[in-house]
Amino acid sequence: MRITCPLCGARDHREFTYKGAALPVPALDSGVAEWDAHVHLRENPAGPHEELWQHAMGCGAWLKVRRNTVSHEILAVELAQDAGLVIKEDRS
Ligand SMILES: [Zn+2]
Repeated sequence: MRITCPLCGARDHREFTYKGAALPVPALDSGVAEWDAHVHLRENPAGPHEELWQHAMGCGAWLKVRRNTVSHEILAVELAQDAGLVIKEDRS
């Protein structure tokens, strides 16, 4: 599987790290139920799925990748920041 980083071009998937489903982050003042759902509830689709990947062995960019979970075909890639997804690094 190859993923085309918008900044680096097509690269082998082993340069990237899967970071989970690409979900919008709730507002900080959202209720417990909304945060609970955001943290714990996940879809498990057979087919197109939007995911977060990081080009960890390359430029470090966070990407929103639309991937078919059955065929592993990459359908679209864009920078996560352009997709409106806020990414915060875990520096611990
Ligand atoms: Zn890159």
